[in-house]
Amino acid sequence: MIGKKEKQPLPPKPKDQMPHVKLNMTYKEWMHRHEGRHTWRNRRWAFVIFINLLFVVSFTFDLAVLEGSLNGSRLIGFYLMDPYVSLELATISLRTHYWHNVTMNMIIGIITILTFYFLMGGRTFCSWVCPYHFIAEWAEKLHKYLVKKRKIKEHHFNRGLRYVFWVGFLILALVTKRLIFQEINPVGIVSRALIYGPGLILLWILALITFEIVYSQRFWCRYVCPIGTTWSIVGKLSPVTIKFEYEKCGHCRKCQDVCLVPHVLWFVVKGRATQAQHYVGSDCIKCGYCVDICPGDALNFSIKGLSKIV
Ligand code: SF4
Ligand code: SF4
Repeated sequence: MIGKKEKQPLPPKPKDQMPHVKLNMTYKEWMHRHEGRHTWRNRRWAFVIFINLLFVVSFTFDLAVLEGSLNGSRLIGFYLMDPYVSLELATISLRTHYWHNVTMNMIIGIITILTFYFLMGGRTFCSWVCPYHFIAEWAEKLHKYLVKKRKIKEHHFNRGLRYVFWVGFLILALVTKRLIFQEINPVGIVSRALIYGPGLILLWILALITFEIVYSQRFWCRYVCPIGTTWSIVGKLSPVTIKFEYEKCGHCRKCQDVCLVPHVLWFVVKGRATQAQHYVGSDCIKCGYCVDICPGDALNFSIKGLSKIV
C-alpha cells in the first residue's frame, strides 16, 4: 500500500549522552536542579495583573486607555473584539436579520485581535490575559494537593468535548437569539466584576472553581471554554511557540506534570521523539511552566523559522 511514510522514533541516547551525565550529576540531583525557578510564571502573573488592572484604572479614573471588558474593548481608541462573542452575534443576526450588530468597528476589532493572537501564539490569551485562568491556576494547586493526599480522585474527559461546546453554544444562540454563552462565560464575568464591581453571578464562578477543585482539574479551560478553543484554532500556524530539543532531554517528564495540556508534550516520552527538534501543538497556552521546570533546558519559547531568517 502506498501511503505517507510514518516517521520512525529516534534511537535512544547512549548513557554518556544523557544530560545529567554530561553535567557530572546523579539523575536525582539533575532532576531537581530547576525546582523553585519561576521566571516565566512571575512575568506572566505580573502581566495578567497589569492588563486587568488597566481596565479597572481606566474605568475608575475615566481614562481612555483600555475601556470596556475582555468581551470587547478599546485600547487607546483601537477596537478589540473577542472573535467568539462576535461569532455568536453574527449567528443571532442570521435569525433576526438585524445586521446592525455587525458594525465596521466590530470587524476592525476582530481583525486586530485575530492578527495579534495569531502572531503571539493563539492560546497565549488564556495564560497571559484571562483573569479566570489566573484564579483557576490557584485552585489547581489545591486540587493537586488533594489528589496527592488521596482525598479525591482525578476525573478526565474526552478533549473533543470542547468542540461539542463550541458548536453547541452557537446553536443555542441561533435557537434562543440570546448570547447564552456570555451569560455563563467566566472570562467576561470575572473581568466585569473586577471593573464594575461584584454581583451574585460570582456564585457561579465559585461553583465552577469548587467543581474543578474537587472533581476535575481545570475542567472549564480543558473541556469547555469556546474562547480557548477559538484561540487554539487561530494558533495552529502561529510563529510563537515552545521548541523542544531532543539532545537536552532526560525524559524525566516533569514538564508534563506541570502542563495544563500534557498531550502537546508527547515527544518527551522516551522513544517517542522522531526528530531532533519538535514544536508543541496549538493547545499550548504558552504559560512557560515547562520552560521553568525543565532540568535539561530542553524546552524554550521560540519563533518558528526565525533561525533560518537570521
Ligand atoms: S523536556 Fe520534559 S522530559 Fe525532557 S528533560 Fe525537560 S522536563 Fe524532563
Ligand atoms: S507546553 Fe509548556 S508552555 Fe505550553 S501549556 Fe504546557 S507547560 Fe505551558
